[in-house]
Amino acid sequence: MPTLSSRTAGFTDSVIRRMTRISNQFGAVNLSQGFPDFDPPKAILDRLAEVTREDFHQYSITWGAQNFREALAAKYEHFAGRAIDPNGEIVVTCGSTEAMMAAMMSVTNPADKVIVFSPFYENYGADTILSGAEPIYVPLIPPAFTFDADVLEAAFRQHPKALILCNPSNPCGKVFTRQELEVIADLAKKYDTFVITDEVYEHILYQPHRHTYLATLPGMWERTIQCSSLSKTYSITGWRLGYVIAAPEIIETVKKVHDFLTVGAAAPLQEAAVTGLRFGDDYYMALQQEYTEKRDLFLKGLDRIGIAHTVPEGAYYILLDISEFGYANDLEFCELLAEKVGVGAVPGSSFFRESENRYIRLHFAKKQQTLEDALSRLADIRKRMPVRQR
Ligand code: GLN
Repeated sequence: MPTLSSRTAGFTDSVIRRMTRISNQFGAVNLSQGFPDFDPPKAILDRLAEVTREDFHQYSITWGAQNFREALAAKYEHFAGRAIDPNGEIVVTCGSTEAMMAAMMSVTNPADKVIVFSPFYENYGADTILSGAEPIYVPLIPPAFTFDADVLEAAFRQHPKALILCNPSNPCGKVFTRQELEVIADLAKKYDTFVITDEVYEHILYQPHRHTYLATLPGMWERTIQCSSLSKTYSITGWRLGYVIAAPEIIETVKKVHDFLTVGAAAPLQEAAVTGLRFGDDYYMALQQEYTEKRDLFLKGLDRIGIAHTVPEGAYYILLDISEFGYANDLEFCELLAEKVGVGAVPGSSFFRESENRYIRLHFAKKQQTLEDALSRLADIRKRMPVRQR
């Protein structure tokens, strides 16, 4: 057989998606891959039912249906405070996964450097490999996951083409403060660097934390490529609806990359999702309230069990500290956790560049009953998990 591409030689499969398969195999409560087990808003589903009988079964415009882009532009202006052009500053993609890839392909050349904060969402590693770029990792230091501005500047001195910013952050739950974003923005301007943002958790925040759109900081609109999606905000991860928002000169290129990658996002789903994009503030307030209740329920349960954990400021992940179990390999821990305890988790090592086996990631985007089921299983963790001597 001829050899396969060297581009993919360093690839493994996604550990997050693998843990979903392992959870299913053992009938575990799957708190690994982050997606809800509750229904999307009824109004969106009602519209979807109507759309099946309407004329939305052929391609939409490659960079997104007109009314979807218009509704998105209005929503963006409402939350970010900047009016954007639905025709020249938006590309609708197949999830933010494609948005990030299209952004990377649009700004980097092979061998360009890209700054990635560690821990990071695992797709960024694959995105850099596929686009031929080289990551420079800058640690976010636990427990507050702050960065050292001097270390960040040292990374910028290597003249990266872009920095990837996940805010609110998966997996550590950090919400970058305005001051932190100003440090990043000042460095991006000083070293003439793009910033690619992943803001899929922009509406999942806990008091008193607020989301600041980096692109709205002075001088950042021209150099920020914003990626986000409808997956988390409207609980429709399977619909694969994401988007890129950026200045027209950047969007011109993103449009082309996107067109040749996927042609377009699903037309009937875009039409149904317009209903969600037009929701008023009450929807987003209720979403925050629901996630706050889930977070509180889950964290209280973990405290009762007595395992140390992070307290997320945004997004819906927590990192559990599993040091007491003595495992040198957190993947082995997660496989046994699914089998012996019946809870699916993601090994922390799939997010950290540093050699780190101390954490596993659980998410709480689940019904109360599912979370209670997971907590009652986790209550037996010390009984059921074999202890390893390091
Ligand atoms: N972002 C989610 C997670 O981190 C889902 C990832 C995915 O599989 N697309 O679990």
